[in-house]
Amino acid sequence: MAETRLRFAPSPTGFLHVGGLRTALFNYLYARHVGGRFILRIEDTDQSRKVDGAAENLMESLRWAGLDFDEGPGVEGDCGPYIQSQRLDHYQKYAQQLLEQENAYPCFCTEADLQQMREEQQAKNEDTRYDGRCRHLAPEEAKEKLASGTPHVIRMKIDPTRPAYVVKDLIRGEVRFTPDQIDDQVLVKSDGFPTYHLANVVDDHLMSISHVIRGEEWLPSTPKHIQLYEYFGWDIPEFAHLPLLLNTDRSKLSKRQGDVATEDYRNKGFLADCLINFVALLGWNTQDDQEIYSMRELIENFSLERVGKSGAVFDTNKLRWMNQQYIKQKSPEELSVLLQPYLPDFAKQSDPEQLQKIIQIVRDSLITLPDIASRLDLFYNDNPELQDDALLAQVKSDPFQQVYKGFVAQLEQADELTSENFGQIMKKVQKETGIKGKNLYVPMRIALTLVEQGPDLSAVVNVFGKEKCLQMVKNVIE
Ligand code: GLU
Repeated sequence: MAETRLRFAPSPTGFLHVGGLRTALFNYLYARHVGGRFILRIEDTDQSRKVDGAAENLMESLRWAGLDFDEGPGVEGDCGPYIQSQRLDHYQKYAQQLLEQENAYPCFCTEADLQQMREEQQAKNEDTRYDGRCRHLAPEEAKEKLASGTPHVIRMKIDPTRPAYVVKDLIRGEVRFTPDQIDDQVLVKSDGFPTYHLANVVDDHLMSISHVIRGEEWLPSTPKHIQLYEYFGWDIPEFAHLPLLLNTDRSKLSKRQGDVATEDYRNKGFLADCLINFVALLGWNTQDDQEIYSMRELIENFSLERVGKSGAVFDTNKLRWMNQQYIKQKSPEELSVLLQPYLPDFAKQSDPEQLQKIIQIVRDSLITLPDIASRLDLFYNDNPELQDDALLAQVKSDPFQQVYKGFVAQLEQADELTSENFGQIMKKVQKETGIKGKNLYVPMRIALTLVEQGPDLSAVVNVFGKEKCLQMVKNVIE
């Protein structure tokens, strides 16, 4: 049986869009699930849209996300090079073949001709498309123009007599297009570079791609691709078009409503395994609605049968929730490594053991990695003070004041303050004041952590020690 081969084929026009990350991931998961190969191909034939450094940036985002490819730039296999601008002779050869077979024709229309054509069609309320005028040029006239060096493109012929072009899609079933919906697509531009359509089909064939998984926006291109496969007499790969990504208001996911670059999420302190988990659920799920998946589980469970057709909502609140779950699952050692770029210098230069303890204490409150900075002040400032007005009002109340005074009295008699004797001290305060449970601990929590709900108090006092705790409680005594 032929090998299962999938590819991710981004154009290096900027950053890796989260939609692109989802496409790459689904190709990767499918390949890994069936034991096939995952290939990266850089589609850079559109010179006008090419951005310097974008290919390297895409690869860095894929590497960060853990999507390693088996063949691609820098990981050479049998089908390289994997950068289209290094494969131009292939496209020229196959464009020539189509011309010879009369499946394609030179088109000499200028930009002005095309503009006029569009305007006339719009005036008649018709769909705007190429009207095929150069397709019907007398062969001698075309030859003459070519001989005299008239600028031209090469267009493919769409068969107007065909009842329909049928795309068999693994997610959508059969999708039919009538020939009048499809333009005689440009295959080679006047600068001699192939368009996406020609280069994509030629490379999918030469790279023996068995499955093409890509975004829904490419579905209207697929009938053109099918026609090219037929002209060349090549096997047609399986197609699967993934549902659109939507904002929470169900409009198409756009920069205007939030971040769309994988690197934005990376820079904002989302974890790679979380983003992968989150993106995997954009259009795919398992029957049991499980939410947290490791990469191994994703690979094990992935199937195209469970990819939906309708748009998938990119809900950043869900992503934030998920990131918090991932941070909670990390060991303090793993988390310390991840937090390094976000640590202020004073923390980096502090006692590593102490820092590790602090990280463990605040871990569960972190939603994204940069949150660490605001959590450290409590521990590194010798005398952090309560700022919140509502809490300041609360600490003035009588029962709170009783707790504070009782605590100071007990603590002053103790040699030190650790997690162990904190419980005993609190018991004594309870005995002296008659205040217990929540009424005893909430005041202490506010005085020592400056928030109502926070990390485990006995762990906090252990890091603070006696003097700092005394000072902080004294700060709130009237
Ligand atoms: N180069 C296209 C892109 O940028 C690839 C589409 C496809 O996968 O066929 O998305």
